[in-house]
Amino acid sequence: MAEKKKKLTTSFGKPVENDLNSITAGPKGPVVIHDVHLVDKLAHFDRERIPERVVHAKGAGAHGYFEVTNDVTKYTQAKFLSEVGKRTEVFARFSTVGGEKGSADSERDPRGFAVKFYTEEGNFDMVGNNTPVFFIRDAIKFPDFIHTQKRNPATNLKDPDMFWDFLSLTPESIHQVTILFSDRGTPKTYRNMNGYGGHTLMWYNERGDYWWVKLHFKTEQGIENFTGEEADSMRGIDPDIATRDLFESIEQGKHPAWSVKAQIMTPEQAKSYRFDPFDVTKVWPHGDFPLIDVGRMVLNRNSENYFAEVEQAAFSPGNLVPGIGPSPDKMFQARIFAYHDTQRHRLGPNYHLLPINAPKSEMNSYQRDGAARYDNNGGSGPNYWPNSFGGPDPDPSMAVPPIEVSDVADRYAYELKDADFVQPGDLYRKVMSEKEREHLVKNIVGHIKGAQKRIQLRQTALFYKADREYGERVAKGLGLDIAEVERLSKMSQEERVKATEK
Ligand code: NDP
Repeated sequence: MAEKKKKLTTSFGKPVENDLNSITAGPKGPVVIHDVHLVDKLAHFDRERIPERVVHAKGAGAHGYFEVTNDVTKYTQAKFLSEVGKRTEVFARFSTVGGEKGSADSERDPRGFAVKFYTEEGNFDMVGNNTPVFFIRDAIKFPDFIHTQKRNPATNLKDPDMFWDFLSLTPESIHQVTILFSDRGTPKTYRNMNGYGGHTLMWYNERGDYWWVKLHFKTEQGIENFTGEEADSMRGIDPDIATRDLFESIEQGKHPAWSVKAQIMTPEQAKSYRFDPFDVTKVWPHGDFPLIDVGRMVLNRNSENYFAEVEQAAFSPGNLVPGIGPSPDKMFQARIFAYHDTQRHRLGPNYHLLPINAPKSEMNSYQRDGAARYDNNGGSGPNYWPNSFGGPDPDPSMAVPPIEVSDVADRYAYELKDADFVQPGDLYRKVMSEKEREHLVKNIVGHIKGAQKRIQLRQTALFYKADREYGERVAKGLGLDIAEVERLSKMSQEERVKATEK
């Protein structure tokens, strides 16, 4: 039987008799304010836009599942990882970072790779990128860093001086810069890229034993990137290429999948490891910590409504579940605060109740009220704890294992500064093919050539420190004096900054 045709109503349910003509005083007269439908319609339209995400504004998402493929119960009590074959519903959102909501998908930028696992013990959010490292390792630099990747405050234009000035004054960014300017900085689609948790997390079991863990999502579609030129032209041909590709692939039944893997380090190993395991500008080389299988993620369902499901999706690295805990990674610690905070601003204090964000497990908190509280707000149950009226109690068995911390509170600079150049050098020398190196240098030269010469020199000295040939090739592409670059590369960062002051 055909479904009964629905009747149009106001947002309060009153049937609407006419949606073409406002009520006016006579056919040529002014509109009257008692046209409640008109006022309601315009007033809601006026409020349709919510704040754009400060970063990761342009994105696409899809629903799917995660399936456990290997027994990792030795390492974690997380229930969603408790059994091979077990499936958990997920929602993933991919994005560019610096561009506005209408910007092109093929921009050179890291890609956000965020996955919400709706587990039986609350939501676990993996809020990573398509790169395993980040530009900075202390969030105190984050607002400054992002300002430099956005628009110049005077001209409202992207500004190579701002971009490279900050990066060249922030040498720990060299690893991520090297990845960003390789062709991995312009992935062809969201399906053809890996995802990396980046941060080190803790995994712990019922006995309280714990390990440090890094998560990797390896694409089963294969890595595919645009060259710099292809990415540039794709901005004009199809600015929504990655969004379109994800949606259409899933519509056509080509469900993208990623194999999920982990690197695992013992607390003992962490104490003496040659790289700081909590420094998000570093990877753990696979030779030291091989990838072990964990599971597989498949995306098989598009959102029905983009705003409700993708735009309102709110992820936070602070969303952890029993069996997964935080690490002392400084960026991770700050993100635990900042992600929830920005979503409260963007979506309101009850954003966790929106269907896309709400856990599919029980949610029993004593939080009450606040704007747009649209569940039953705890009903008639007690709104405080402790109480003797049968309200929910904390469960001490869910505690994260204690970790030893004792030191003097201060603002500490990172000590192992020379280590910043080892991994980008390895990437350039050992991992990249000659063709990839050629593209890397070309992509860098094409971008930094718009910056002032003193900034070019300062940054090229950092490339030179990572690898001599890398620095020389960039210097050659920019027409810089290689001897000058070499001289700058031998200085301390402080001396280099002084030598390249305006
Ligand atoms: P491996 O040879 O074991 O691994 C190299 C990794 O580099 C692979 O995971 C590969 O990903 C990835 N890769 C290939 N090309 C690029 C590129 N242009 N940009 C970024 N990553 C790329 O080496 P190690 O583990 O010893 O690491 C060597 C260097 O590789 C590191 O310093 C780091 O720069 C980079 N890397 C390391 C990762 C890690 O977790 N150990 C992860 C990603 C990069 P794929 O499997 O898709 O081919």
